[in-house]
Parts: sequence; structure tokens; C-alpha cells
Amino acid sequence: MIGEWLRDASAVTVLTGAGISTESGIPDFRGPQGVWTKDPRAAAMATIDVYLTDPEVRRRSWRSRRDHPAWGAEPNAGHRALVDLERSGRLRAIITQNIDGLHQKAGSDPGLVIEVHGTMLDAECLVCGLRTPMPEVLTRVDLGEDDPPCLTCGGIQKSATISFGQELRPEVFAAAERAARDCDLFFAVGSSLGVQPAAGLCLEAVERGARLVIINAQETPYDRLADAIVREPIGQALPTFVSEAC
Ligand code: NAD
Repeated sequence: MIGEWLRDASAVTVLTGAGISTESGIPDFRGPQGVWTKDPRAAAMATIDVYLTDPEVRRRSWRSRRDHPAWGAEPNAGHRALVDLERSGRLRAIITQNIDGLHQKAGSDPGLVIEVHGTMLDAECLVCGLRTPMPEVLTRVDLGEDDPPCLTCGGIQKSATISFGQELRPEVFAAAERAARDCDLFFAVGSSLGVQPAAGLCLEAVERGARLVIINAQETPYDRLADAIVREPIGQALPTFVSEAC
């Protein structure tokens, strides 16, 4: 059924979350092995206000960026299935909440990947906005700077990701909204759909007449809107649907 929907679709938009990368060895936040499931205090620390006011949080944050499993991770069958879907000409966009860059590493066209929560592959100055490749900043951390300031203005830097309390980039989210509205099939893959406004894109797609397919191991608040819900592992389910369609 889902394979047929995919075959018949002319524009497919896929919203991905941390669950698509767990099979690459990157833990999610709210799954059974999730970072926040294991340590609920970690979520409270992930706010921009705490980051700006507590140097110890910043020091810990740089160390956790340096040790992040994404640096050594490889894309998995789920990411690769979306590359195959793109080759079939049906993919309108991948809207990702992930910050790990694995869609692009798998070979997805960067022009089709909308990173609504930013990327950990860059750092950004919170004062002047200067972007620096993250490995350059992490080299400074390795050399002993535990909270490296911006080399241009001396401001506080942070990974170019969106923390709680931080605005999404309006132009990036506008592109995501267009992709949600201009599709006839919308997949939500590996997301607890608990973070707004990204999760609300499901509703925008449905209101414009798109079918909604949710692939996620756990229940989500949008399940009642879905035309189909799949509880199988993403790395098995997505390649199966795509190969049925392409
Ligand atoms: P989440 O942790 O809230 O939810 C992930 C969901 O995926 C869970 O419901 C889990 O049951 C499901 N899941 C995990 N592995 C699965 C698999 N193999 N097959 C099927 N389902 C699976 O993640 P979210 O909704 O993306 O929201 C968390 C926020 O944290 C996002 O904003 C994201 O930016 C960030 N985050 C990103 C990464 C990353 O870049 N890889 C990792 C952790 C968190």
C-alpha cells in the first residue's frame, strides 16, 4: 500500500528526526535509549539562556561536540533509501531536525535538505554571526581553550544548532513550510513529533491534502492524522517502500 502511494506520488516530502540516525550509532533524545530519557536534566540544560549565562555549560557543550558520535558515523539504509527516492524524481525535499549531516553524507542533494534545527558541522558566533567549520573550533578546544571565543569579535560561540529558546531561521522554516504544503505524500520518519514548530508540518501537509505516513517505533501526537503508521525499524521499512515504488 505505502509502496503504491509512493509510486503514484509526484512530490514527496520527508521530515526526518533523530530516529533515522540511531542505526548509524547516534542516540536519539526521547527513544528508550535516548539521551534525555536516560538523563532528563540534560533537556533543561539545552536552553540558550543557560548556555549564555553558564560558562561550565559551554565548556561541557564543547567537549560533548568534540566527542559526538556523528563524527565517526556513516549513513545507514534509511538515509540511502532517500537518495534512491531522489533519483526516482519524486522527492520534493527532506526536512530534517537532525544536525548530523548524514543525509548529505549519504549523497542527498544538499539543495533538497532543509536543516530546520541547524548543523553541528559549523560553529557560529552569537554576537557577530561569523560561521566557522566546527573542526577548526574543536582543534582550539583540543589545544586547551575550553570555551573558544569568536576570533573576529571575541563573542560567545556555539554550534550552529537551534537550542530551546532560540528562534528558528525564518527563511529556512519558510522553505520547510513550502515543502510541506507542496507535496502529495508526506513522510514523518524517526521523530517523536514532540518539538514545535517542526512537528506541525505534518498538519500543514495534511491540511493541503497530502497523505501522511509516520514511520516511528513509538506513538506520536500526530498518529491520529496519519493514513498509515509503521512501527518497524526505519532501516528496514524505508528501503522496502522505496524499492517497491522505484
Ligand atoms: P526524538 O529523540 O524525540 O524521537 C526519535 C524517535 O525515533 C523516537 O520516538 C524513537 O522511538 C524513534 N526511533 C529511534 N530509532 C528508530 C528506528 N531505528 N526505527 C524507528 N523508530 C526509531 O527525536 P526528534 O523527534 O528528532 O527530536 C529531537 C531533537 O533532537 C531534534 O530537534 C534533533 O535536532 C535533535 N537530535 C538530533 C540528533 C541527530 O542529529 N542525529 C540526535 C539526537 C537529537
